[in-house]
Amino acid sequence: MARKPKWATITPEELKKIERNKVEVKCGFCNGTGKDPFQLLSKLSTCQVCGGKGKVRVIGPTMKCNFCNGTGVQPYTTSRLHCLACGGVGLVTKIKNPKKCHKCGGTGIYPRRPNPVACHICKGQGMIAKNRGGG
Ligand SMILES: [Zn+2]
Ligand SMILES: [Zn+2]
Ligand SMILES: [Zn+2]
Repeated sequence: MARKPKWATITPEELKKIERNKVEVKCGFCNGTGKDPFQLLSKLSTCQVCGGKGKVRVIGPTMKCNFCNGTGVQPYTTSRLHCLACGGVGLVTKIKNPKKCHKCGGTGIYPRRPNPVACHICKGQGMIAKNRGGG
């Protein structure tokens, strides 16, 4: 019987639970078409976010990505990138017991110039999970 290594913080049971909680959602970046919405490489290039499937599996329950407003496209920039906060899906895993992010003041935006980026504390969501007992 294999013993669990010390570094393994997620037990197989927890991993199974995470897998069970995964829900299939429509890819926000390509809007479920599976094609690159900006046709950067060619008209037939596949969406880099979902790999052409049009669907992505994320851990549920989900909520709309605050940073890109569910579009899956990186805002505040002219480059046609997928949203770095949600990975281009347009949805993120819902934050339990959310509290306002102190770093960005709840906006989810780190005001870097010229292009604001997603706040690295809350990953663009403007809120973070409240830690029990923590401050
Ligand atoms: Zn896609
Ligand atoms: Zn996003
Ligand atoms: Zn923040």
